[in-house]
Amino acid sequence: MTDTCGNYIDGKWAAARNSFSSTNPADTRDVIGRFAAADVGDVRRAIDAADAALPGWKALSGYARGEFLRKAADILQSRLEEVAQAMVRENGKTIAEARGETARGVALLRFYAAEGVRPCGDVIPSVNPRTFVYTTRVPLGIVSVITPWNFPIAIPIWKIAPALVYGNTVVLKPASATPHCGVLIARIFEESGIPQGVLNLVTGGGKDIGEELVKNPKVHGITFTGSNPIGRRIGAWAAERGAKFQLEMGGKNPVIVMPDCDLEQATTLTLRGAFGYAGQKCTATSRAIVLAGIYDAFVENLLGKARALKVGPGTDEGNFVPPVVSEEQQRSILNAIEKGRTEARLLCGGGVPPGEVYAHGFYVEPTVFADVPADSSLAQEEIFGPVLAIMRARNLDEAIALANRVRFGLSASIFTRDLNSVLEYAGRIEAGVVKVNSETAGIEPQVPFGGMKESSSHSREQGRAALEFFTSIRSVYMDRAGL
Ligand code: NDP
Repeated sequence: MTDTCGNYIDGKWAAARNSFSSTNPADTRDVIGRFAAADVGDVRRAIDAADAALPGWKALSGYARGEFLRKAADILQSRLEEVAQAMVRENGKTIAEARGETARGVALLRFYAAEGVRPCGDVIPSVNPRTFVYTTRVPLGIVSVITPWNFPIAIPIWKIAPALVYGNTVVLKPASATPHCGVLIARIFEESGIPQGVLNLVTGGGKDIGEELVKNPKVHGITFTGSNPIGRRIGAWAAERGAKFQLEMGGKNPVIVMPDCDLEQATTLTLRGAFGYAGQKCTATSRAIVLAGIYDAFVENLLGKARALKVGPGTDEGNFVPPVVSEEQQRSILNAIEKGRTEARLLCGGGVPPGEVYAHGFYVEPTVFADVPADSSLAQEEIFGPVLAIMRARNLDEAIALANRVRFGLSASIFTRDLNSVLEYAGRIEAGVVKVNSETAGIEPQVPFGGMKESSSHSREQGRAALEFFTSIRSVYMDRAGL
């Protein structure tokens, strides 16, 4: 890619006054391309285009809208390898993760294509025998979609697809670390033949254009995934003018390891959850709360595996821990590790791996801390990197209390063979995604997803739950003519 890639507004690729470049986190000498740095004027044009397209798009049947999603799914499927490779180059994840994410994008498009003909209301018996009452769903209008870099294909799609099929028009702003992935999504929809203005893309800095995307009075809904500080600000701006908003944010996800667990399973899946994609999943495992009876065996078994993990570029299928996304992210993870050294016992990792292969990328060693105190920053703060905090608990009660003693509540898991422990945990754990004998990360597109406490604004995404955010309920009372 040599030319600067524009914003996609009203069905056309439009140049912007300024641009920025996107580089490969595995090797920053590899510049992916230059992208439009949209300004507020560009955002207004995109919102105006979405506004102009809204009446025509709303007027189509859900089936007809779904047809565009079906076509987009077919196009994405046919380009799966190309998109996956582009994703590895832009955000660094492993090729296996990137293929899986692209396939998830296809599945999401197919799920929501069919959503256009699924039931969307109820018939409610009236107290009056002559009155017929039903509910139906109407689109919000224009939706701003603001997304992070870590799932640069799946997250935009899991927001755009339901927004569109339920009759909304969209302005997408992808993260500045992954503009190329945003462009690929817009191109796929363009090729699907979607009417102009229905889906618009603006690339550029959130700090420059985010406010307009949220505060513009023509925007009726804002769906955001990203960090807590930005999410909270967006929520406050939206609430101030009565716009609907949805926020999915951070996590500090625990696994609880019981003495009766399958130790191999517990260590393997804890490791995968903590170090897969270098811990940059909102559902990554960042705390292992281990019961005293199995603590030493768990630590020893896990450490053996952690030391054997291969760190390196995501393009090499043998690597498990890829680079982190940016220098800023690398610095922030290393700072958290430095602070952690003063709080707990460092068992492995803790720095940048040595060697030429790592010299031009943003790598962090898989890092394990043990005997982590409950109120330390290691136990409380989202690090969003390959760092695992192991904590000790005397019994299940204490383990659940520790698991819940954070401000986040996104995902959790327990490793045990005991049904009573599972039921106790499933009933008391404060998390929106609750796993048993499984990784904290990994979700299915047809299942509602979202967090509790400060992880979310308490709405849910994906599956049929998306209907709740992207539509309003209309209650219709119909009476016969004549008294
Ligand atoms: P950020 O909050 O920094 O960015 C998210 C998006 O918001 C980006 O598009 C960003 O643009 C934009 N943004 C930045 N500033 C503003 C602003 N003032 N107004 C409006 N938009 C703005 O998060 P990251 O991209 O760093 O993602 C990492 C975070 O996302 C982690 O905390 C992680 O837990 C969370 N996350 C949560 C998930 C979930 O489902 N719960 C899933 C994935 C990630 P720009 O890039 O240009 O700054």
